[in-house]
Amino acid sequence: MFIIKIKQNISLAPLTAFGIGGRAKFFVEIGSVDELAEAVNFATKNNFGVFVLGGGSNVLISDGGFNGLVIKMNISGMRHAVSGEHVVSMYAGAGEMWDDVVAKAVELNAGGIENLSLIPGTVGGAVYQNIGAYGAELKDVLVLVKAYDIKNGDIVELSNKECCFDYRHSIFKKNKGLIVLGAELLLSKNHKPSLSYPDLKKRFSGLSPTISEVRRAVIDIRRNKLPYPEEVGNAGSFFKNPIIPISNYQSLVVKFPDLKGHDLGSGSVKLSAAQLIEKAGFKGKKVGRVGVSEKHALVLVNYGKSTAKELIDLSRMVKETVKSKFGVILESEVEQI
Ligand SMILES: Cc1cc2nc3c(=O)[nH]c(=O)nc-3n(C[C@H](O)[C@H](O)[C@H](O)COP(=O)(O)OP(=O)(O)OC[C@H]3O[C@@H](n4cnc5c(N)ncnc54)[C@H](O)[C@@H]3O)c2cc1C
Repeated sequence: MFIIKIKQNISLAPLTAFGIGGRAKFFVEIGSVDELAEAVNFATKNNFGVFVLGGGSNVLISDGGFNGLVIKMNISGMRHAVSGEHVVSMYAGAGEMWDDVVAKAVELNAGGIENLSLIPGTVGGAVYQNIGAYGAELKDVLVLVKAYDIKNGDIVELSNKECCFDYRHSIFKKNKGLIVLGAELLLSKNHKPSLSYPDLKKRFSGLSPTISEVRRAVIDIRRNKLPYPEEVGNAGSFFKNPIIPISNYQSLVVKFPDLKGHDLGSGSVKLSAAQLIEKAGFKGKKVGRVGVSEKHALVLVNYGKSTAKELIDLSRMVKETVKSKFGVILESEVEQI
């Protein structure tokens, strides 16, 4: 007996932060592993591709939509356990909203993810992308990921190491057959907030804020700095910060003395993609119904009813200009479907 309800010809645009995208040939919302297994069986039997959608806050879906089965991940549930005086272990289902997990952790006085406050999307999307902000990354606190293996229907557990996390990268980007079901985080009641990021350093200079104060500050800074999808369609940073060899950075600095670079050690430097885009003259630029946010040069926006093609054309224009001015190649952070 079928427990899932597979719908047809569903518009995906309203399910994404860009508000852009065509239709899914088939679409299903799943709230349990059994439902997921049934959805995957349906796709396998009919030879359809599968795309897992979380909160839609890091995707640009093509105008032609997705000619297969879109599985909207709604597996919920959060639980925690305290061991000893300080250690808090938290497990959250892949369909939980990431910021609800942060709010719960802060309520429990469990530190480690307060700098990742107000990042839109689900736990599944956060793991997939190894989200990061204000000097913190999900990988710093993640212990294990429970995942469903499409190949054989097994439920597997991957350790932090097995997830192959890197800057906005995880094994789930390479192996699309693994669907995140949930993640376990290790947090601490004895946590010393990380204030290394300039905005936080300035705000808390000489102070020892609680994790709740750090969360409030991060929310405040983000609301001022970034356009949120409720105001204007966007998916946060459109490009990754490029990493280049230190020798290239040294040559660039001769021409552009104020060029920001974060030394990663091992002979490479991470540049600020926002600064490159701003210097290339794109900040606040509008092209028809799309543009580069006037609040943040890394954010491409849909001013209303635009298409994926218009956004991709703009992203190409930005990439080409940055490449010809700085010789630096920008890579997309947003997943193009
Ligand atoms: C205003 C704004 C600010 C942002 N700021 C940040 C930031 O500071 N730092 C940062 O890192 N990101 C940021 N982002 C990007 C985005 O919030 C994150 O990438 C987020 O983790 C995406 O989660 P999602 O559930 O919305 O994923 P979706 O957009 O739905 O999906 C993204 C990718 O993850 C895959 N995926 C989703 N769920 C699963 C699952 N259960 N199993 C396997 N694959 C899955 C999808 O297939 C897709 O390939 C921002 C976005 C916005 C709109």
